[in-house]
Amino acid sequence: MADCLFCSIAAGDIPADIVLETDDVVAFNDINPAAPTHVLVIPKRHVASAAELEADDAPLLSALFDAAARVGEAVEGGWRLVTNVGPDAGQSVFHLHFHVLGGRRLGWPPGLL
Ligand code: AMP
Ligand code: ZN
Repeated sequence: MADCLFCSIAAGDIPADIVLETDDVVAFNDINPAAPTHVLVIPKRHVASAAELEADDAPLLSALFDAAARVGEAVEGGWRLVTNVGPDAGQSVFHLHFHVLGGRRLGWPPGLL
């Protein structure tokens, strides 16, 4: 999709610190990390958010979760998978991405503000 930052990263048009790539999925370090491990896992195909996923996307979702788990394997003590949907939830890039966060103790519940 034109003018989509994460489509451009997936296409290799904008550089990113890629940690894992498959046919359908790319994972790269977040440019503004909120934890020692902060990796974004995205589909190469443009999907605006988790709210746009369809039943047919089950294989893609499986690939995204598999990539997240492979990133999480390297994180000692556990990790968290987060996806924000819409501006009130904090979504700032409107291309589906899962945050893999870890490497420090993470508060729960999140986002009290
Ligand atoms: P969200 O706010 O949930 O939509 O998450 C978007 C994330 O993308 C934020 O954590 C940003 O720090 C991250 N981000 C924005 N631009 C880049 C970039 N060029 N490379 C890597 N991460 C980015
Ligand atoms: Zn996109």
